[in-house]
Amino acid sequence: MTSFDLHTHSTASDGTLPPAQLVEQAASAGIAVLALTDHDTLSGIAEAQRAAAAHGITLWPGVEVSVTWKRLTVHIVGLRVDPENRALNQGLAGLQEFRQWRALEIGRRLEQKGIVGAFAGAQALANSALISRTHFARFLHQHGYAKEERKVYQHYLTHGKPGYVAGEWATLDDALSWIHAAGGQAVVAHPARYRMTRTKLKQLLKEFATLGGAGIEVVSGSHGPQESATLAQLAGEFGLAGSIGSDYHGPEGSGLELGHLPPLPSGVRPIWQPVE
Ligand code: AMP
Ligand code: MN
Ligand code: MN
Ligand code: MN
Repeated sequence: MTSFDLHTHSTASDGTLPPAQLVEQAASAGIAVLALTDHDTLSGIAEAQRAAAAHGITLWPGVEVSVTWKRLTVHIVGLRVDPENRALNQGLAGLQEFRQWRALEIGRRLEQKGIVGAFAGAQALANSALISRTHFARFLHQHGYAKEERKVYQHYLTHGKPGYVAGEWATLDDALSWIHAAGGQAVVAHPARYRMTRTKLKQLLKEFATLGGAGIEVVSGSHGPQESATLAQLAGEFGLAGSIGSDYHGPEGSGLELGHLPPLPSGVRPIWQPVE
């Protein structure tokens, strides 16, 4: 059985492995088809494609697009996109501009609370790739503001906390139109992570399916078996395919590993299977 991992990050966004090393690790973990899906950028794809050719695995160009839907941040993964597509690249350029502004604003707000140098620190950790909250979390953790990196989010970077800046990302409609313009398939990333009510989640999936969305991550590094079972059922209800993605960010991360995901529950149509 071919092994798929269709949601991963590199140093092009907030992962810690450069694209070529990520691909090398995926190949040694036995992954046959890997999607590189950095946040709001395609800048790691070319390097990943060269490495995939060298290691004899298949690389699907992808991207994880940040979306604001009903004032919530939702992530939409685009799979098998044309990385040269103009509409997609222009759309992502707008999100990158917002990220840069937001990073400066997060830095200003933390500075008002006496935390000096967070913007410069996060920017240095991002190493001229785009800046995400992950880089602020790493900086604040390294400077002793929290014992664990994930605790930084709840104390500094989420709603109501000093360094929080509300997202003004793409609309769901725009995200899907960019992905479709680039010939890709749209997939709702880690649906159980949003902690939406079932009603809200169904509303999202209904809109998503109406806009031509292809699938949802039924198996994700951030889902347990019970959540996968619920999502398998919802995929069927909305005529959506299922995808599998670890959301891997690097070896030092939250214990998530490449190539250790369970298979899709039976009855779910895989996103990689052509529609009859
Ligand atoms: P951003 O897109 O810049 O707002 O950053 C979001 C990223 O931060 C996610 O993709 C995760 O990698 C990371 N992140 C957000 N919240 C948490 C959390 N509670 N624990 C660990 N990582 C988080
Ligand atoms: Mn991330
Ligand atoms: Mn995500
Ligand atoms: Mn992700």
